[in-house]
Amino acid sequence: MIPELKKLEVWFITGSQHLYGDDTLKQVNAHSKEIVGYLDANKNIACKVIFKPVVTTSDEITRILIEANTSTNCIGVITWMHTFSPAKMWITGLGMLQKPFVHLHTQFNRDIPWDSIDMDFMNLNQSAHGGREFGFICSRLRKNRKVIAGHWQDEDVVSKMDVWMRAACAWHDWQGMKIARFGDNMREVAVTEGDKVEAQKKFGYSVNGYGVSDLVAFIDKVTDKQIDKLVTAYTNEYKVELDARQMAGVKESARIEAGMRDFLEEGNFKAFTNTFEDLHGMTQLPGLPTQRLMADGYGFGAEGDWKTAALIRAMKVMASGLDGGTSFMEDYTYHLNPKGMKVLGAHMLEICPSIADGKASLEVHPLGIGGKADPARLVFNVPQGKGINVSMMDMGNRFRMVTNPCTVVPPDSDMPKLPVARVLWQPMPELKTAATAWILAGGAHHTGFSMAITKEHMEDFAEIAGIEYLLIDEDTKISDFKKDIQVNEIYYLLAKGLV
Ligand code: MN
Repeated sequence: MIPELKKLEVWFITGSQHLYGDDTLKQVNAHSKEIVGYLDANKNIACKVIFKPVVTTSDEITRILIEANTSTNCIGVITWMHTFSPAKMWITGLGMLQKPFVHLHTQFNRDIPWDSIDMDFMNLNQSAHGGREFGFICSRLRKNRKVIAGHWQDEDVVSKMDVWMRAACAWHDWQGMKIARFGDNMREVAVTEGDKVEAQKKFGYSVNGYGVSDLVAFIDKVTDKQIDKLVTAYTNEYKVELDARQMAGVKESARIEAGMRDFLEEGNFKAFTNTFEDLHGMTQLPGLPTQRLMADGYGFGAEGDWKTAALIRAMKVMASGLDGGTSFMEDYTYHLNPKGMKVLGAHMLEICPSIADGKASLEVHPLGIGGKADPARLVFNVPQGKGINVSMMDMGNRFRMVTNPCTVVPPDSDMPKLPVARVLWQPMPELKTAATAWILAGGAHHTGFSMAITKEHMEDFAEIAGIEYLLIDEDTKISDFKKDIQVNEIYYLLAKGLV
């Protein structure tokens, strides 16, 4: 369901020119190979790193970057200027490049060899000024890219590279992605709406609606064997203590899950939405099925929220192989006690068990909304640790992403009567400032919540997507945050004229 990141390729392209002669270019080539070997073998690097021969002319540069565009496994490009590569040669190629790229501003030799340094060394190790020439043309062309400066064996450099690769993988995954909406939006809700044509143009994914009866046709075809298989999986994976009536509800939930899986697999969807206001022909709101589909890597947004469904899918791709889970989330209720203000995050049902602390409990309880049968759901707490909440909105002339890191904390006491998965967090810098900034930014009530990825992943992703990025963290001051929003208003009105 989630692509294997190690099968996806990042191309390493080194720029130079002919001025230096063959001997120097051979050394440049050898050094590039060594860096690629190091990065590719590094267990902290998500993708395969592929060496490409050093480019020295405008034609070579253009050719390799066109090839990167059309290669299905290439998710992005790393560029490095070991020597000085006159950057007018890069104008055509960079103008055509459609994939994300990193400017790795590194030098092969970490240290200056004080005793032996001569002009040969100086002619070979020119990143310090070669990288500046390349940086200028990228900025002059207004190209979004990540700049990573430092020695290539530096752990921080490797980590930044990995973060960017994960963002580039998620971006790659969005291209051509299909999102299914069962029913439309929750009626009258604003923030979950948006321009789906603009999203497809900007993000590459398509969002299409299906009648709930289209899904019900799949649910009706589910066999008893499929249901039994799922119920066995439930009893193995979760704590299950249910009476006969509740067990009947679980079986009905298994039927819905199998039908949803068949529908999503047949249509090759990676994310979906539904709404409790439109469940015609379904006996219960799909709580457990949605939780389990999310755990398998599907993006999900409740109440028709397709932007959050896409976002959660992207966050799950970025989080692949990392510790900690990623879920759909909603800021539900506050604890405003001055001794420690926090947010209780939950949803009616649909929280992904990838964030659960231990085994989840499978339960069946009435739902006070929607007027359907009692739905099955997984109930659990979430372990302490660092997390982020992320939201995407359509601001009319642009998409905006807001990210807010938080600390997940234990509840002050058990909540025995709360029949849903729940997580408590303290947002950065603290609740009052975080909530004020979030509200001023127009941040949604739905978020993507993750304990696997960080604000750096989201910043890289927003940069690749070319959208507005607002961060609420330990450095946030409301007066500055307001100014940032105002400056951005002007920027996004003018930016289209720059490129
Ligand atoms: Mn909701």
